[in-house]
Amino acid sequence: MAQATLSIDLAAICNNWRALDKLSAVETGACVKADAYGLGAPRVARALAQAGARSFFVALTEEGAALRQHLGDGIDIYVFSGHMKGDTDMIGDLGLIPLINSVDQMLRHVEALPGAPFGIQLDSGMNRLGMEPGEWAAVRDIALSQGPRLVMSHLACADEPNHAMNAMQHRAFSEMIDGVNARRSLAATGGVLLGAPYHFDMTRPGIGLYGGMPFADAQPVVKLDIPIIQTRDIDIGESVGYGNAFIAQRPSRIATIGSGYADGILRAMGPKAALFCNDTRVPVAGRISMDLIGVDITDASEGADTLELLGHHQSVDTLAEWSGTIGYEILTSLGARYKRRYVGV
Ligand SMILES: *Cc1c(COP(=O)(O)O)cnc(C)c1O
Repeated sequence: MAQATLSIDLAAICNNWRALDKLSAVETGACVKADAYGLGAPRVARALAQAGARSFFVALTEEGAALRQHLGDGIDIYVFSGHMKGDTDMIGDLGLIPLINSVDQMLRHVEALPGAPFGIQLDSGMNRLGMEPGEWAAVRDIALSQGPRLVMSHLACADEPNHAMNAMQHRAFSEMIDGVNARRSLAATGGVLLGAPYHFDMTRPGIGLYGGMPFADAQPVVKLDIPIIQTRDIDIGESVGYGNAFIAQRPSRIATIGSGYADGILRAMGPKAALFCNDTRVPVAGRISMDLIGVDITDASEGADTLELLGHHQSVDTLAEWSGTIGYEILTSLGARYKRRYVGV
């Protein structure tokens, strides 16, 4: 079998959720958008619900609708994109909670589903989603009279604790919710780490659950083992892969493994990338191709069937550094061809 195995440690995800929960005195939700950052929302959310999570956050109404089938009733599912045209039936039938982003969405919601739950998303400076202070002032009384389940905003720079934007957004949010008698939320993973003033009534971490920065104390969650399809010995001066990008400087042993950029192993990380053969670091040799990668295993002992790209030796943030991106993008790029194996259940 040439298919690589992505092991997802559900116990580690739950431990990370508990660890983040311990850092605040308030309810800790769980952000499971984009299929739980590529790790499989059904299994991840069920495990988190068993661990005690009661509020889940997704980006799209469709994601919320799918999640409802796996979580059953009695769990709050919030939708960041709010109440979009065409979403009314899903929201109403499945009891999803749209986070209303504009006056238009507010009107759509109360007209189509009077009395149905909703939350409010405010823009405190990121200028991505949510009502601006002026808009909010105009609908605030009407919205509050309908009893929103949550009033939230999102931080743009929470991964940089000393960034002036954090205090600025905190101030803007605090002004907008002054006198508001509803539950409030500002913090994702980065905001949890900023401390109590940022916690309000609920936090909604995502990346920290999945073992990514900025939650440095996270337990590793993913392990990616890629089968060796073929090995060969090459002489000094022989090349490996497209463009002859690797030229052997010594007699070398090369393993060809069965994943590539079509599986989310970004081609751009190539020159800096390495894998592990048990505990020996083995560098990528030449360019990453679509389904295959050459690896210089000269220094490794014989006999391994697979090489490890992700695990306790190196994290999604290590791979992100090689390719000039963030752990979030590495996680959500992990491909559909891996065999996903859930452990720790
Ligand atoms: C993605 C997202 C989160 C979770 O963010 P992390 O940095 O992954 O913890 C929380 N709130 C909003 C609005 C988001 O878009």
